Amino acid sequence: MYGNRAVQDRLEMPPASPPPVQRDVAPGSALPNVTDLAESHYKEQMGGDAAISRAAEARIIPDLMARSGNQAMYQTAYAKASKLAATRGTWMPDIHKLIPLVTNAVAAIPNPSLNPQQDFRAAQAAAQNAARPDPVHIVFAVTFFHDVTNYAEAQAKAPLNQAVTNFMQGFLGLQMQVPNAQQKTAWASALKSMPWIATLLTDKDRALPKPDSRSRFWQDGGGLDDAGNVVIDTNGLPPKKQVRTDIDNGKVYERIARADRFLKSAVDQQYLNRINKPQVVVKTMYASGEKAGGFFKKVSDDQKWRAHQLGNKVVLAQNDDYSIFVHEVGHYIETMSDGFVWRDVHKLMADRHAGAGGANVALLDPTGAAAEGRYGGDYPVTGNYTSKVYASGSTEVVSMTLEYLSRPSDTLRMIEGDPQQTAVVLRGLKPTEYNNHHALRAFDQFLPH
Ligand SMILES: [Zn+2]
Repeated sequence: MYGNRAVQDRLEMPPASPPPVQRDVAPGSALPNVTDLAESHYKEQMGGDAAISRAAEARIIPDLMARSGNQAMYQTAYAKASKLAATRGTWMPDIHKLIPLVTNAVAAIPNPSLNPQQDFRAAQAAAQNAARPDPVHIVFAVTFFHDVTNYAEAQAKAPLNQAVTNFMQGFLGLQMQVPNAQQKTAWASALKSMPWIATLLTDKDRALPKPDSRSRFWQDGGGLDDAGNVVIDTNGLPPKKQVRTDIDNGKVYERIARADRFLKSAVDQQYLNRINKPQVVVKTMYASGEKAGGFFKKVSDDQKWRAHQLGNKVVLAQNDDYSIFVHEVGHYIETMSDGFVWRDVHKLMADRHAGAGGANVALLDPTGAAAEGRYGGDYPVTGNYTSKVYASGSTEVVSMTLEYLSRPSDTLRMIEGDPQQTAVVLRGLKPTEYNNHHALRAFDQFLPH
């Protein structure tokens, strides 16, 4: 049976050493605040701390050069160094005698674009060397270069801070009403008349049409199933222990291709155009949670794999269902999409959590793993796992909804059982069609607005 533990069990096992950004929030632990979630989310979207460091590094020589001709920068460093000198009962010389310490050192940088960190350190050392006869000069030189570093770091982080500020301004003003049973039924009917949903409901085996090969979907083109995009990972297991059935018979590639077709139809082309496709890693293992019958009991733990997404990779077992490939790529799309889907799913979870009492700690999902806390509220179709709390700001809402929509036996159940959850995700990922479908306008009051 789909829907509760059978499906949820095989999702998201953290890898052996997960980076802190992916950590779970245990039941009973304080819930992260929205500003922190937004910072984690946008940071991950921008490539993490490493990308911000690279941006700061790329700026540091241009900043140093611009600032070595900037009187205000000298004045700031001079004022700071003077204060320090005053507390030590010493004196500061004329600022105009200090400026050449820096300008000469900067002018000596041979080729500023080649090795920013090394050049920066060399210029700093040269300035300090020139200042050596007088300790007060050294204080000035150190302060100046320190200020340049801080400036470059602040500038590199500015887009992140701006994204968080913009997000919070929008998020705090959002409203959404709760539909009653009658309104839910009417909403589900309107959803079923959307052209894409109508296609899904008639295309029972999900043999979705192959996308137009002349159109570009992923920013880097091609499909998830491209030969160069699928990596087989044996996890160091000896050949006898490798489970390769669906690799050798090609079925896993068919499932990846189906997931690719589904996602290309589920997400606005303009959004996919802005993100590269994630790499698909296939483990020569059995999907964990798959068929807990007699046979599977005999499978050793090192041959079971729980699917997850991390950065630009989705990592699945060779026999994971196509809907699980959809689920994991859904996480990646949620993180990378700059549509409103991430904002809106957090609003949905926050409102349902508040409606269920609004505890300030993560709640226990009695059917879930001990470490996996959740927000309160009902998710009648996709279950408690849907509102799992991640400190990274990731959610299960987009993934679970796409997974259920992608599975023929669950499409209708998803729409009729929770039109609000369905619509939050659909409008976020497929806004062109959602917003152009007139029958849905009566229900916009039940979405974040
Ligand atoms: Zn998931």
